[in-house]
Amino acid sequence: MSDVEIPPEETRLHRLLRALKDQGIEDRKLLHAMEYTPRDLFVPELFLDRSWEDSAIPINCGQTISQPFIVGLMTQALKIEGRHRVLEIGTGSGYQTAILARLARYVYTIERYRSLMLEAEIRHKRLMLENIIYRFGDGWIGWPEQAPFDRILVTAALPEEPVELLAQLKPRGGIMVGPQGKGSTQRLLRYTRTGDTYETEDLGEVRFVPLIAGVAKEN
Ligand code: SAH
Repeated sequence: MSDVEIPPEETRLHRLLRALKDQGIEDRKLLHAMEYTPRDLFVPELFLDRSWEDSAIPINCGQTISQPFIVGLMTQALKIEGRHRVLEIGTGSGYQTAILARLARYVYTIERYRSLMLEAEIRHKRLMLENIIYRFGDGWIGWPEQAPFDRILVTAALPEEPVELLAQLKPRGGIMVGPQGKGSTQRLLRYTRTGDTYETEDLGEVRFVPLIAGVAKEN
């Protein structure tokens, strides 16, 4: 018998949730949403045994599923309420989308890889999440037809201040969270809109794949 015991799924999930709590992720609804969203459904088979680790994991198309702590940090910073309409840029695996969908009224999500978007949609159907609206397109320009949004979450690194996205926030208290910067690490910023004024807060250093304008050509 090996002396390294692999704890059962349940224990690994709860160990992860406890680690998130220890790092300041305390919002009960958010922790509940993470508890009931099986991350292993969103992780490629090759990396299944890492589903409950607090780390980012590669997915198709050279992208990554975000680290659970970062998902918690960004979602908590958004202060989502049950009546909110949320725009997400960068569907990726759809894990973060699923968490948002459990907290908000509607989630509008945009992805520049069609295959990633379709795979995410299948996962959400399996979880019976029916308040997600998908768009294959360029998130850099947002979703003007559905604006304004109560909240906007960007899950790829913004190269510069996203003027068009900021204009799609609700003028009274709209909040946008996302990584910004051109280097291998970026600053996680939170913008809060009041009329034409945007208050900016720096929530720390993060590491994201870059936001790339335009849709991806796939083979
Ligand atoms: N939240 C995702 C993270 C995915 S990584 C998850 O937890 O799985 C970031 C995603 O943003 C990638 O899938 C990438 O293709 C997408 N992306 C990058 N630039 C984009 C753009 N301009 N429009 C839409 N999606 C974009």
